[in-house]
Amino acid sequence: MSASNPRLLDGKALAKKILSELKIKIDQFQPKIGRPPGLAVLMVGDNPASAVYVRNKEKACQKVGIATMGQHFTGNATQAELEQVIAQLNQDERVDGILVQLPLPKHLDSIALLRCIDPDKDADGLHEVNLGKLVRSESGLRSCTPAGVMKILKEYDLNPAGKKAVVIGRSILVGKPVALMLLEANATVTIAHSYTSDLGAVCREADILVAAAGRPEMITRDMIKPGAIVIDVGINRVEKEGKSKLVGDVAFAEVAELASYITPVPGGIGPMTVAMLLSNTVQSYAKKAKD
Ligand code: NAD
Repeated sequence: MSASNPRLLDGKALAKKILSELKIKIDQFQPKIGRPPGLAVLMVGDNPASAVYVRNKEKACQKVGIATMGQHFTGNATQAELEQVIAQLNQDERVDGILVQLPLPKHLDSIALLRCIDPDKDADGLHEVNLGKLVRSESGLRSCTPAGVMKILKEYDLNPAGKKAVVIGRSILVGKPVALMLLEANATVTIAHSYTSDLGAVCREADILVAAAGRPEMITRDMIKPGAIVIDVGINRVEKEGKSKLVGDVAFAEVAELASYITPVPGGIGPMTVAMLLSNTVQSYAKKAKD
């Protein structure tokens, strides 16, 4: 099937809907728990893209009634200093989620820092315990961007079962967990990466193509199976016609001519990632009502 008018997978609208559902849930739980949910966002240094992401996350928290305990460290912050702050936040009763905004400056060991976070407060779902639970198909906090991909597929009734899915990228942040989630949803999954030969041929097999390589508009029309579902995770800032612009890993206009469904950039997986972060925080919060 080819589609001259693909359906847009509208992450912005879905994220808005999820945020209003979270607000209702928070209002229900708050009298029982006696406080709002809390998310602590740790940012180190002055990476401008990270600053924008952190601001968006904090704004979304405000909308639904999650208290943010943001802490901004200079680029010289030490590993020991950050580990101590995380240890305090682990003990802090008001904190349900802890997020370390990545990437960190080179002198810091992000894996070791993520390991310090209490797995029950791991709002980003990147702690090895939560990633391990994903591998074992056990319930746990799921990493936000991959969870956002799965949520948008579900919202549009696009069941991966029995489909061929190709994920481009094998990072711990996106590629590997999204591949595992698609596998969990019974797709037949291929992971492509920078060593894959004939990427075009691999992509043309895909009923579901998830692009997470961080290469602006590298996925072109000739790499698409007609009727494919195309999920663009990439966020790349490029100069176009003298202006700075965000584009994905997919050449949207030409790929949209062949795809049956496609996510835009911006307005696709980006807002879904924020919605899933808040959702993880509220999931940890709601557990307190049962404790
Ligand atoms: P990364 O650099 O850690 O990983 C990129 C992966 O792509 C690697 O595994 C690499 O092997 C693969 N790759 C690179 N070039 C390739 C090529 N030419 N052919 C095939 N594979 C190639 O990046 P990441 O953290 O996984 O992020 C990927 C993209 O997703 C980036 O653009 C990032 O900004 C974006 N991102 C978006 C969100 C969101 O909320 N939408 C969240 C996280 C990351």
